[in-house]
Amino acid sequence: MQKPPALRCRRCEPLPGGNLSSQPGKANSIGVVALIVYTFGMLPKSPLPDNNDAVQRVKDAADILEIIGEVVSLKKAGVNYKGCCPFHSEKTPSFTVNPQRGSFHCFGCSEGGDVFSFYMKYHNTTFPEALQNLARRYNVLLPEKPLSHQDQARAKQKSGLYEVLAKSADLYHQLLVHGQEAAGARRYLEERGIPPETTKSFKLGYAPAGWDFLARQLTDPAEVELALEAGLLVKKERGGHYDRFRDRLLCPIFNLAGQVAGFSGRILGDGQPKYMNSPESPVYDKSRLLFGLYQNREAIRRQRRCLLVEGNFDLLALAAQGLDYAAAPLGTALTVQQVRALKGYAEEAVILFDGDAAGVKAAVRAVPIFLAEELPARVVVLPTGHDPDTFVREFGRKKMEDLVAQAMPLADFVFTSLLARYGSGLEGKAKIGAELRTMLTGLAGHQLQHSLFVAHFSQKLGISPEQMVSGKEPKPPTPPAPPALSRHTEKSLPQKQKQLLEFLIIFPEYLQKFLEAGIEVMITSPFGCTILQHLREAVRYESGRHDRLLDLAAGPEKAFISQLLITAPAFTDELRELAAAEKLNWLRQCGIKLRLEDLTKQINEAQKAGDFEHLMRLIERKKGLDNELLTQNSAFPSQSEDGKR
Ligand SMILES: [Zn+2]
Repeated sequence: MQKPPALRCRRCEPLPGGNLSSQPGKANSIGVVALIVYTFGMLPKSPLPDNNDAVQRVKDAADILEIIGEVVSLKKAGVNYKGCCPFHSEKTPSFTVNPQRGSFHCFGCSEGGDVFSFYMKYHNTTFPEALQNLARRYNVLLPEKPLSHQDQARAKQKSGLYEVLAKSADLYHQLLVHGQEAAGARRYLEERGIPPETTKSFKLGYAPAGWDFLARQLTDPAEVELALEAGLLVKKERGGHYDRFRDRLLCPIFNLAGQVAGFSGRILGDGQPKYMNSPESPVYDKSRLLFGLYQNREAIRRQRRCLLVEGNFDLLALAAQGLDYAAAPLGTALTVQQVRALKGYAEEAVILFDGDAAGVKAAVRAVPIFLAEELPARVVVLPTGHDPDTFVREFGRKKMEDLVAQAMPLADFVFTSLLARYGSGLEGKAKIGAELRTMLTGLAGHQLQHSLFVAHFSQKLGISPEQMVSGKEPKPPTPPAPPALSRHTEKSLPQKQKQLLEFLIIFPEYLQKFLEAGIEVMITSPFGCTILQHLREAVRYESGRHDRLLDLAAGPEKAFISQLLITAPAFTDELRELAAAEKLNWLRQCGIKLRLEDLTKQINEAQKAGDFEHLMRLIERKKGLDNELLTQNSAFPSQSEDGKR
């Protein structure tokens, strides 16, 4: 994706060395200078790149639209892009990205900031990690600035884990494709209808029987340590180690950055456990990842829908039949984080869980999550005895798509299943009510979904909403939760002050002139004063760049700024100059009026005191100010008295 050039050059002061990513020839010399600086501890002020420069270069090179667009489905809306917020539950997109200003803002939860804020929050990283990852991705050379020992160790450990996982995935994959020991595994895949292309695109592997296939190939002690930590090797009680995965077909689990984070291994024969997963590690968090989402993400986005299946082989069987828009949780119940990850790609989930008791239970548990995350979900009920794998192999893609088209809304499916289990008698209804109430706890804090859930199911059960919630006699309804965000602070900002600050946030280069015209006297609310203070600092250090401003601000002020950066219309140079002149004019007028008020008071006092000489002097001064005011007014004759524009 091309980075839009607009506004960038104005934001950017010339950087020492410029953007290194686009000037590979310069990279070396700067890297060397930086190395000398950090090695010998000399810290000259300029023009050597310091950490801020590095941050800025990464920020300039990183494409915020690309970074966010990978995980949030964005649609163009004017100069902005909109999508559903990954940080709170919503159905109507209020999450907005402005690529020109390099910022994002959510109008629902007020989360906002720049590409780093997004990366850190979404991918759950520290700032140094986000900096390194983005720098690597956009080929920006970072100066050899030492990270804190802790950050350094953590970054090193993570990259080491990814390396050993990638190496193991390669070894297992090569063995499956070419190895003699893997003949049985290849036959097994063939029997299950998994063609070589699917094996390749999912990078399936085979861990042979025996205890030391991997252990023999990982000889470096540091590598062994990492493999133990990643759960690929297991320590023996009496020293040494052995392979965790033996005689299993392996599905590498990729994170959304395309790195192998762990494995899920299926036994070839009838042994137990049927599936074995890597244990959690610093890079493998089962509650955040989904098998197949990385490989299928584009297809899911195209289809706007994701099929959710339980088993990895269900997913592979569907992919083999061209149904390549599925994902599978990693042997655990679906989590909020997983549904949020899905929301970046799908507008709807269709659950293809087995119709047995365990499948129903999983569906029941998923109801509050889908409701809370406002991702519509439906359920496909497969014929008894079938799972998605067996069904699609027996009946083919078309029949499966027919079932998907007829899928039942999740809530209806759950209710029907519960009714089938408990019956519709009084006792049955009480039991159904009790099961539904356990789901309600998952909706605490989601007032609207809570109400919808209660209304929907109480009607179905033929009881009152109060009874539905309490399970007993009706109670007064709970008071509504306070709104998630109080805009009190921003509201405390009078309209005119707001306009002035908004203009300066977009065009901080005018700050000095506004200060000279006396803006400080005009900004009276604490909210406005804080923003003005941030503006002064941002201008002092970074010529008022928006990202610097976003860094400085916090809380409601930050939300105010990031929202404005999204909503403010683009100005032509002419329009900007005109707006600035009008505002400056208004400020000067206000200044004169304040002085006139003061003068009028003094004139009254001089009159009372009978001090004629002083009175004449004051009146002369007043005449001068009146004239000044007239001149200011004539600069913008069309402007109304209160200066509203
Ligand atoms: Zn939000």
